[in-house]
Amino acid sequence: MTKITVSTSSRSEMVEITDRVAEAVEAAGVKEGIATVYVPHTTAGITINENADPDVVTDLLASLDRLVPRLASYRHGEGNADAHIKSALLGHSVSVPVAQGRLALGTWQGIFLCEFDGPRTRHAVIDVR
Ligand code: ZN
Repeated sequence: MTKITVSTSSRSEMVEITDRVAEAVEAAGVKEGIATVYVPHTTAGITINENADPDVVTDLLASLDRLVPRLASYRHGEGNADAHIKSALLGHSVSVPVAQGRLALGTWQGIFLCEFDGPRTRHAVIDVR
């Protein structure tokens, strides 16, 4: 198992971690299997989406903001209820097949750690088997 650290720089942001996951897969030496990437946070999430056109990430974050506004009649008193809800919507793990020792991602796919209450230091755990 590999734990990586990601420093985010704004409140809401998607940080691509594909290369770091690929390094963990290579280090694990697994040729055929599955890589699970897990984010142990309640106000961050993880997703797979397009890494070619950065407008996709911009649109995704803007759409989440429209769906889950920063300020609304939330009960959670910490002031980051929107971040908890966005984290729940995206989820906390993704699984990617490993074939011939490499991540079997689609051509346009990247793995993104999704920050919703930054800037902070975040972690992702990568398990390859
Ligand atoms: Zn909270």
